[in-house]
Amino acid sequence: MPLPSIDEQYLLSTLVDLLNIPSPTGFADAAIAWTEQALDALGLPHERTRKGALTATLAGRAQDAPRALTGHVDTLGAMVKEIKPNGRLKLTKIGGFAWNTVEGEGCRVFTRSGRTIAGSLLLTQASGHVYGQAVNKTLREDATMEVRLDERTASAEETRALGIEVGDFVAFDPRVVVTESGFIRSRHLDDKACVAAMLAAAKALRDADLTPAQRTTLHFSNYEEVGHGAAAGFPPDLTELVAVDMAAVGAGQTSDEFHVTICVKDSGGPYHHGLSNRLRDLADEHDIPYRVDIYPYYGSDGEAFWRAGGDVKVALIGPGVDASHNYERTHMDALMGTTRLILAYLLAD
Ligand SMILES: [Zn+2]
Repeated sequence: MPLPSIDEQYLLSTLVDLLNIPSPTGFADAAIAWTEQALDALGLPHERTRKGALTATLAGRAQDAPRALTGHVDTLGAMVKEIKPNGRLKLTKIGGFAWNTVEGEGCRVFTRSGRTIAGSLLLTQASGHVYGQAVNKTLREDATMEVRLDERTASAEETRALGIEVGDFVAFDPRVVVTESGFIRSRHLDDKACVAAMLAAAKALRDADLTPAQRTTLHFSNYEEVGHGAAAGFPPDLTELVAVDMAAVGAGQTSDEFHVTICVKDSGGPYHHGLSNRLRDLADEHDIPYRVDIYPYYGSDGEAFWRAGGDVKVALIGPGVDASHNYERTHMDALMGTTRLILAYLLAD
């Protein structure tokens, strides 16, 4: 059976909308709420887990071997660790990234009272005219990076008066750019690219009035970047989980920005051989160009479920993302390939 057609515009606009919603791990409610509305628009019933993740259940032609897909809406970010005597903020990272990847980036601080205050992340000795070689040579670490707020403050007292406190979440500006040539350049394509692909696949099924082979849970995770996102939130009779997360592009990798990748091994070890092979067969069968790859420094929400005791087959697929956990980029071809492979999996007996 040929795959149903995918609404490419929907895929792209869903991605851009999601990218523009700040959602560092622990502060992802707005992205979850946005996804709820997207599911409402597709007429799909959904539920929030107690931990704050979102699940939607697609009825299947059968339910003797229920399946699930998981993608995460939470992203890298930071939290206010200290308010410095100069009124600037020292941060603590949320998720795994290097400070230089966000140096000079705009950011927003979310206060407890609901205020959003803009700023940017800079080296403590940022001006080349003042600090000379220090700008080059300083090691980028928690102590040498600070947020300069776009407010008149020069003391901890003045900053506190703005409503800022230790524990406030900080999100880095995604800087979303969509090019004529089909690239999407933005922070946090990990993993909003895959959430958009999952929603576009659900819409393609609805538009074509098709039913998945098995009852399938769409799981939208909210704590992936810290390692335990999809540890919970699946039905007890689940038999298979496909994590949908970005593929790592770089020297020595087969993954690129134009293909969906099936990841067969990462830092957590090999994925389920049988399920990975079935996904390769499905890609072959539907003429979906794909790559098979291994990611050297990577963990997924599929492994989070395995570690939590999930007794299911687990595989990992996703679009190639260049400069992951940095200023990322992918291409529509990889997003479409990922969406098609999701559809092939959903429909296959
Ligand atoms: Zn991810």
